[in-house]
Amino acid sequence: MPLGVVVDLDDTLYPQADYLASAAAAVGVAAGHAGLDGAAVHAALRSELAAGSDTGGTIDRALLAVGVPASALAGLVPPLVAAFTRHTPPRLTPYPGAEEALRALAAAAPLACLTDGNPAIQAAKVAATGLGPLLPVVVVTDTLGGRVVRKPHPAGLLAVSTRLGLPPERLLVIGDRPGKDVAVAAAVGARAIRVRQGEYAAAPDEPRAWAVVDTFPAAAELALDLVGALARG
Ligand SMILES: [Mg+2]
Repeated sequence: MPLGVVVDLDDTLYPQADYLASAAAAVGVAAGHAGLDGAAVHAALRSELAAGSDTGGTIDRALLAVGVPASALAGLVPPLVAAFTRHTPPRLTPYPGAEEALRALAAAAPLACLTDGNPAIQAAKVAATGLGPLLPVVVVTDTLGGRVVRKPHPAGLLAVSTRLGLPPERLLVIGDRPGKDVAVAAAVGARAIRVRQGEYAAAPDEPRAWAVVDTFPAAAELALDLVGALARG
């Protein structure tokens, strides 16, 4: 039975900061249309996102930071959140060598992408990277039951296992976040390779991955070695 390779998207295949910068600019434009200082909102949102993109409420905090009274948030936030979620990045450049490495993996093993987030946003990101044709199986955890089934909840990886027709322990996850990508692999008995890059590059190795590398191509090389070793028995 072959080994299936499951790759994360954000900060694994491309730098998520590029997407966030593009989306923050779109929110700045929308803020300008709403009568606010768009440049100031853009700057405040970028600094909120840099402090932690995964926390929620970043647009609320950016508006408060530029002096918007709390009583005005209820009216201003929904259209700005809509501007953020509707934003389609024109182009997201993959990490150096990531496209070639993904192509090599696609040729050697069943391959899938497992990612958390708003499904429309994640689909727009995949399209903007140009990597879509190499990723015929993409599972966005939120489509399986909302935010509560985001990694490290096992639902997404189990769905990948079903889609690929492989048992979970025959999967190898490649991703940047120990608490999500490595942990979801551990939750189903799969292996994981951590790639130290992006927002969580300095996070501790907890839980411990099967291997830790600095680039996606290095992870792909290890994955290809493992695929070959298992194929040889
Ligand atoms: Mg990631």
